[in-house]
Amino acid sequence: MTANPRPSVPFVDLRPQNVAINDEAVGAFAEICESGAFVLGPQVRRFEEEYAAFAGVEHCIGVGNGTDALVLALRGAGIGAGDEVIVPANTFVATAEAVAIVGADLVLADCDEDFLIDPVDVARRVTGRTRAVIGVDLYGQVAPFEQLREAVGGDVLLVEDAAQSQGASRNGRPAGSFGVAAGTSFYPGKNLGAYGDAGAVTTGSAEIADRVRALRNHGGVAKYEHLDVGTNSRLDSVQAAVLSLKLERLKGWNAERDEAAQRYATLLADLPGVVLPRVLPGNQHVWHLYVARVADRDRVLRELLDAGVGAGIHYPAPVHLWPAFSWLGHGAGSFPVAEALAQEIISLPMFPGITGEQQEIVADALSQAVRR
Ligand SMILES: *Cc1c(COP(=O)(O)O)cnc(C)c1O
Repeated sequence: MTANPRPSVPFVDLRPQNVAINDEAVGAFAEICESGAFVLGPQVRRFEEEYAAFAGVEHCIGVGNGTDALVLALRGAGIGAGDEVIVPANTFVATAEAVAIVGADLVLADCDEDFLIDPVDVARRVTGRTRAVIGVDLYGQVAPFEQLREAVGGDVLLVEDAAQSQGASRNGRPAGSFGVAAGTSFYPGKNLGAYGDAGAVTTGSAEIADRVRALRNHGGVAKYEHLDVGTNSRLDSVQAAVLSLKLERLKGWNAERDEAAQRYATLLADLPGVVLPRVLPGNQHVWHLYVARVADRDRVLRELLDAGVGAGIHYPAPVHLWPAFSWLGHGAGSFPVAEALAQEIISLPMFPGITGEQQEIVADALSQAVRR
């Protein structure tokens, strides 16, 4: 025990963001209470317009969460039973859940060393029943959609899981605008986070947008209009008001993440056995997560946590190794890159407002752990 222990560093700290919008948010909440328009109110329509412009698409439809956004994007694009949908094996489970929920057949593909879906492996998994591929912008970097298009040919739909990439771009094109439709999540910890669950579908297709708008609200746009078997996945006005206030500041917050990523790159450059994340050519990364690779990861993680440094694993196993997806029948060894990465990845503290001093504490703790 040292007399003066170093302060701990949280994995994520949302308080600076909340403080920045708090006064305006409270005003907006009072207005919503006064109006009584708690669900799909004018704040929702306003945020949908703002977010569509931000993502460079014609249409944004606010929904209840990111998983629903993916489900509704798939349903909106007409994907369902009898269709095969290819998804990267190394993603948050929701990407795979969405495919299962719409009744399509889940086909997994391996990833590359930069954590993104591998177009070469995707090409091997295309069959006559392949309807779509979901590119996941994992950790905040847009998936290689041009290479995916080449891999699958012209008839297969591309869908984007943009839950981790608000504000990112690839070759100048914003995240959320790749493919026929994208689903994004505004879970509080995402780059653009609500004060609870929220999500959105973005699309350039008026047809898909109309269908999603109906599906999120019991299959019709007007009350007691049920044209299709829909669901209840509406965005509420409180979340939309928060999202509008945060969207105004997102560019600045993403710039702070980028500065922090560059600082980590300097601080961690010479650590033995540590592989730092790369930004692919053409990509503007928004560092939802800062994921490095280390040997003996479980011990390193434990030592970081013991030193008071918040760190995590995103994600501890690829989709096929979760009990929920054992019915796919893929044992260990089926997706070798995803499986190897799952043993080595470690997510370091990353959030707007993280200080240089906090990052030095992280770097020192990691340095000690990997040199042991
Ligand atoms: C967060 C996330 C989702 C799901 O979003 P929820 O709002 O939690 O339902 C889907 N895909 C990825 C890659 C995510 O990170």
